[in-house]
Amino acid sequence: MDCLFCKIIAGEIPSTKVYEDERVFAFRDINPQAPVHVLIVPRRHIASADAIDAGNSADVAAVFEAVPKIAKQEGLANGYRVINNCGEDGCQTVKHLHFHLLGGRKLPEQMG
Ligand code: AMP
Ligand code: ZN
Repeated sequence: MDCLFCKIIAGEIPSTKVYEDERVFAFRDINPQAPVHVLIVPRRHIASADAIDAGNSADVAAVFEAVPKIAKQEGLANGYRVINNCGEDGCQTVKHLHFHLLGGRKLPEQMG
């Protein structure tokens, strides 16, 4: 499958890994929007949040279980933001479900 994040997970394209487990892979965003900007993805290809269903939601749950572990590892004791962009209107550019973990400074209130 011609998917950038599948290739990153497979190690075919380099990334800076920050966390991995059986279901989850996390790496630094190449164009960071905050001092900490990590992308957390399910290893299994899910195209977007709009493709989440009962058959793959365990992988999504695993992503969210990883969030506080990665936040702790990254020193985000003062809080952080988790963002998903979905589809055209959500400005999703990579069609493999991913959650942005942003922190390390006070983030802007507005995001819409
Ligand atoms: P989105 O706009 O939500 O689809 O986010 C895609 C994110 O992937 C953007 O923040 C990009 O900076 C990031 N990105 C694109 N290519 C790479 C790459 N090779 N390694 C790490 N992050 C990437
Ligand atoms: Zn993929």
